[in-house]
Amino acid sequence: MDLRSMIRTIPDHPKPGIMFRDITTLLGDARAFRTTVDRLVQPYAGLRIDKVVGIEARGFILGGAVAHQLSVGFAPVRKKGKLPWRTIAQDYALEYGTDAMEMHADALKAGEQVLIVDDLIATGGTAMAAVKLIEKLGARVAGASFVVDLPELGGADKLRALSVHVDAICAFAGH
Ligand code: AMP
Repeated sequence: MDLRSMIRTIPDHPKPGIMFRDITTLLGDARAFRTTVDRLVQPYAGLRIDKVVGIEARGFILGGAVAHQLSVGFAPVRKKGKLPWRTIAQDYALEYGTDAMEMHADALKAGEQVLIVDDLIATGGTAMAAVKLIEKLGARVAGASFVVDLPELGGADKLRALSVHVDAICAFAGH
């Protein structure tokens, strides 16, 4: 099944020059959604995964389904100020300035093997923040799975340089 063709591209959203890769068209199709989750899970069949970490917000939809399929728990990485319990934080770079991502301080146990899930990797800033949060809690990143890679922005290579195993179902040129 050609999942790449199920992703809608919206030029100049949210600002000029950005090609927004909208996965809601893929999620809305039963067979495409199921196939997507199957492909995200496939590389980890037979490997030890203790928890899935999904990145706000589309990473929650995909990560929840992946966790269900792997029969493991799910932990959210959210933007600063959204989680209700005690948190740990990690700053990450935006185009202008910085922001922070947070996890609950008790979301992972030391030594757990974690799979990161998000819809798309661009510069890798958000995924790198997730890696740091997971490691701060003493857990290990077993891999990071995305639906879309934008290889020209270098995020996947940055994660690989940290020895993280990265998979993406499809790739698009440009931003
Ligand atoms: P980055 O931290 O640069 O790797 O950006 C990844 C995050 O931003 C993901 O959670 C995506 O949902 C979102 N994102 C970045 N660029 C795009 C794009 N071209 N289309 C859709 N989402 C994007």
